[in-house]
Amino acid sequence: MAEVPEYNNRKSVVPLVPSAKDYAWGIRGMDSRVARYALESKSIDEVDPDTPYAELWIGTHPKGPSKLKSGEDLRDVVGEDLPFLFKVLSAGKALSIQAHPDKELAARLNSENPNAYGDDNHKPEMAIALTPFEAMCGFRQIEEIAFLIKKHPEFAACLSQEAKLATFLAQDPDSQKDALQKVFSSFMQCDATVSSKNLALLLLRLQAEQSKFHRHPHDEPAWERKCSRAVLRLAQQFPGDAGAMAPFFLNYLLIAPGESFFMAANEPHAYVAGEIIECMACSDNVVRAGLTPKFKDVDNLVEMLTYSMGGPTIDAGAYMEETGSKVIRYTPPVPEFEVMMLHINPGETLNYKNPGVPGILIILEGSGELDGKLVRPGRSYFWPTDSPELEFVVAKDRRGPMKVALAHKNCHLHSPTAINRMNFGGASSRRTSVPPSPLPYMGLGNTTPSFEREEAIKDGALDHAKMPKL
Ligand SMILES: [Zn+2]
Repeated sequence: MAEVPEYNNRKSVVPLVPSAKDYAWGIRGMDSRVARYALESKSIDEVDPDTPYAELWIGTHPKGPSKLKSGEDLRDVVGEDLPFLFKVLSAGKALSIQAHPDKELAARLNSENPNAYGDDNHKPEMAIALTPFEAMCGFRQIEEIAFLIKKHPEFAACLSQEAKLATFLAQDPDSQKDALQKVFSSFMQCDATVSSKNLALLLLRLQAEQSKFHRHPHDEPAWERKCSRAVLRLAQQFPGDAGAMAPFFLNYLLIAPGESFFMAANEPHAYVAGEIIECMACSDNVVRAGLTPKFKDVDNLVEMLTYSMGGPTIDAGAYMEETGSKVIRYTPPVPEFEVMMLHINPGETLNYKNPGVPGILIILEGSGELDGKLVRPGRSYFWPTDSPELEFVVAKDRRGPMKVALAHKNCHLHSPTAINRMNFGGASSRRTSVPPSPLPYMGLGNTTPSFEREEAIKDGALDHAKMPKL
């Protein structure tokens, strides 16, 4: 092992070789940002056009430790594990429906089943979109679910009478939460022959309704139409998997580049498509329930969820006081990490002070100089605490800005930018009450209807002046 802490002797950033992962849901070949970054940082020697490049891990997690160019483990250089894991994700199709345990549950799962749950740590995570990004996140309001049960008889057929009754009758927050747990566990425990038969029937009907000769869908409110389309798309990606009905339970969100959301412990979610930066506590614990060929743990998932309703707040970050619009910080309400997005225009220089904790940075776009050395998109670096300041310079004649993501331990825990709505997220419990909320979940503090916002993102008409540039 290198003498600890050797990194304290380093006066600038240290180039890293991150760990690239191919999973079935990744984007294939050079279309994948993960592939391009992995190639640039020499994590891989060549890009295979048929391989789905899914994740790039930058950090000290034992399942994908980053190395120095010399071959040394980053962990040996730091002298301990970093409290966070930084990732780039390229999702071509949906990831499994999942939730991450809180600390207490993580420790229990790890001791009971260390093969499936290799970490005893919790895994709060934050996603920042690099492209328009689709995700399912958090339960819908119970009224929406009740509406969808009535609208889609094939979905209703996968639920017990008791669960349906509870859903229709639930009035006060506690009985709503109760009903949500009943209806979700009833669906998850539905006999496979029943759910696959009804899924097939549902798809036939939805396909017929999507045809332009069918009158009905054009009268449908946008959120209902979008929900049906999402079911069709997931079913195409995972033939025969009843998890395709997840949009009947979960909020379906589209996040614009530069927007982020924070996933607290014990909230169900599934990323669907797009590319993001992800930062999380250093852990790999996932409890999966569908849309995956991997180990599914329905019992633990049903048990652990908070059954809060509504989705996360969509967060566009906050400018750092010292550096103005050049740096946007995304600060979750957990101590392990926060992410800074640095934006240096052609002709500009940014001197950025070390926050006093070890950091990881990755060049996302554009090139320029970092402490006098040329850097390019895809390169990632360790920033030791003994390097007091970094200087980024982008020459005047560069065509575009240089964009850099920097992750480190949370230094702004007192003023998080990502605050969850009301009681969304938190420790697994059914004690919290449900906030009253209009139908359906709107995102962005309910100021802009999500569908219109999402259509606007697709048309490029969304007001980008209000968004951070990435
Ligand atoms: Zn997750």
